[in-house]
Amino acid sequence: MKILVMNCGSSSLKYQLIDMTGESVLAKGLCERIGIEGSVLKHAPAGKAEFVCQRPMKDHTDAVTLVLDALTDASHGVVKSAGEIIAVGHRVVHGGEFFSASVLINSEVKAAVKECCALAPLHNPANLIGIDACEKLIAGKPQAAVFDTAFHQTMPPKAYLYAIPYELYEKYKIRKYGFHGTSHMYVSRQAAKMLDRPVEELKTVTCHLGNGASICAVDGGKSADTSMGFTPLQGLAMGTRSGDIDPAVVSFLIEKEGMTAKEVENLLNKKSGMAGLSGVGSDFRDLDAAVEKGDERAKAALDLFYYRVAQYVGAYAAAMNGLDAIVFTAGIGENSAIVRESVCQYLGFLGVAVDSAANKQRGKAADISKEGAAVRVLVVPTNEELVIARDTLGLIE
Ligand code: AMP
Repeated sequence: MKILVMNCGSSSLKYQLIDMTGESVLAKGLCERIGIEGSVLKHAPAGKAEFVCQRPMKDHTDAVTLVLDALTDASHGVVKSAGEIIAVGHRVVHGGEFFSASVLINSEVKAAVKECCALAPLHNPANLIGIDACEKLIAGKPQAAVFDTAFHQTMPPKAYLYAIPYELYEKYKIRKYGFHGTSHMYVSRQAAKMLDRPVEELKTVTCHLGNGASICAVDGGKSADTSMGFTPLQGLAMGTRSGDIDPAVVSFLIEKEGMTAKEVENLLNKKSGMAGLSGVGSDFRDLDAAVEKGDERAKAALDLFYYRVAQYVGAYAAAMNGLDAIVFTAGIGENSAIVRESVCQYLGFLGVAVDSAANKQRGKAADISKEGAAVRVLVVPTNEELVIARDTLGLIE
């Protein structure tokens, strides 16, 4: 019952081989710089030393070939042959309005994913290439697509429509889609388990705070609203992304700086956020270290980050007309006690109170709220790969 989970980026491929019998990770790894000079595979088999292989990978087919070689190798492999893999689950970033759940991949699914390439030009083409490579190299095995957008398809029109001419929604499907859906769904269900309450009864705000960051209002187990939008640029300020901004800034920059629309988009995606504001970088550990040394710009950037996260939590408590729990997850949410504490300081009026001692831990599931606080604050490590593997297994069973 071994399932290969694939997450293909434009020049990268992350994978995990999961044995579904005990849901244990047999191996995980990463191919970087696919199609660029200096391609490298880093393969970590459970209980064995990491294997690093620097070899040219001209495309994703080369990368999948190397991954299969690594998984079946006599010394650092974890299976005897690729035949032991019963199915492949792919993370697909954009499912548009086509998919509200995971699906087995066939030609119609691939055509729909292709249609969504215009909505996610960096991600969906890479996801399709990964699917094609697996179809070729792990032939005859079922493959599933698990979409970042699917969980958010339950949002009502008042949450997903933009106030622009409705014809543009009809013509181009310009609307809020939301991302990180697999993570928001997983951590909201884990939170319900930790609180020993049915997810259908809970109003939860999940904060996926990583390099990309988004917030979701999960009402009764369903996404009611989320902070990312038509693209993953909307919402919170992130490592290098601006998040919410007055759209008029775009034309202002085009005019004043002589930039093209694409250049402005690139600036907002890659040179803004914490990196652009602070001048230090996008990693919160570096920002914290800079603040310790008295860096005022780094402090201003972090203050803005906490403020915006708190604003979204407040907005979503209003959207759901109540709040039972706040969940922190992903690289920053799971590891940074300062972020959790600073965000929650704004939210005392809702009944949020963090226990400083409980908040000190890193990377583990924990209830960090003060005894008796009306709103529970939880840290829940996310596990998107496990959801992809579970969905894939569910579909083939
Ligand atoms: P992710 O995209 O979920 O992998 O998150 C990556 C980000 O998590 C990094 O860029 C860091 O900003 C942040 N991060 C990881 N470890 C820590 C830590 N110990 N303290 C603060 N931030 C961290």
